[in-house]
Amino acid sequence: EARHVTKVFGGGLLRKTQTVALEDFSFQVSGDTPRITAIVGESGSGKTTLARLLLGLVSPTRGQILYRGKDLQKLSGEDRRAFLHDVQAVFQDPFEVYNPFYKVDHVLRLPIKNFGLARSRQEARAMMEEALHAVGLRPEETLGRYPHQLSGGQRQRIMVARALLLRPRLIIADEPVSMVDASLRATILGSLLKLNQEFGISLIYITHDLTTAYQVSQDIIVLYRGSVVEAGDVEQVVRDPQHPYTRLLVGSIPLPNPDRVWQGERVLGRPAGDLNPVGSSYCKFHERCPFAMPMCVEQAPPLFQTDPRRVTACYLYRDAPAIGPEELVHVF
Ligand code: SF4
Repeated sequence: EARHVTKVFGGGLLRKTQTVALEDFSFQVSGDTPRITAIVGESGSGKTTLARLLLGLVSPTRGQILYRGKDLQKLSGEDRRAFLHDVQAVFQDPFEVYNPFYKVDHVLRLPIKNFGLARSRQEARAMMEEALHAVGLRPEETLGRYPHQLSGGQRQRIMVARALLLRPRLIIADEPVSMVDASLRATILGSLLKLNQEFGISLIYITHDLTTAYQVSQDIIVLYRGSVVEAGDVEQVVRDPQHPYTRLLVGSIPLPNPDRVWQGERVLGRPAGDLNPVGSSYCKFHERCPFAMPMCVEQAPPLFQTDPRRVTACYLYRDAPAIGPEELVHVF
């Protein structure tokens, strides 16, 4: 669970400019009801920072990340071990995770060894083979090879198999298909779907690509410059986007039929830059928004609940009830 999490980079002794990577973000995911939640946004939206926060790789500047009600940054002993077992990650660049001097078996054997999953080498081998089969790989074509002898798609699927070995409650997949060929994306996404549907594992799927988010997830959170701009049921959000930024994302999806042209509004301005001032008191999208009104630069819009399972942070929907960021957890 993320509770009012803000992450600011910069500042400090060198008095560098501060950048807000994530601002007042609240969210909850349960391993008991396995779902796939997509976190979507462009570069600088804060999605990768969110992944790192949820994995405990960086600490929040304000707010808390909780695992089973306990502060992730203060976990120790059995609690920490349980977290490292229950929450696994699949990263963007599978090559970085491998040691080029070790065969790929090494990355599969480590979790088995660290968590004492097998009583013998034969049992460990059987577990590795089972996990590889589950992600559509043939053990005889992968085990015993070095990372450079495998394709990017194979390396990424081995990382999915590695995550599966522990039978975690949650997998956080950060841009898992952005570094592989388009032809292999469907296979890897299929493996992730299988983890959810057959093994009951929840997934947080982080991506800049709305199309794949739509393909695999049930829920979606759209981030823009560190803030939630729209969230809810993926079918609703993608088929009928409300926030002008989500409309821009949906409008950017290439259409297979060249005679069909997106009729959406033209969105001006520049994409999110690196710098996000701390505590901005305006809608961060106002420079690009064709609907901007005076009120948009006077105060940042809250989340308006436009449907029981949908929120939009935009004054165009100000007739709907406003909710606090912490209430986003009840939308899913
Ligand atoms: Fe546009 Fe205003 Fe909505 Fe922001 S709050 S997206 S500027 S209409």
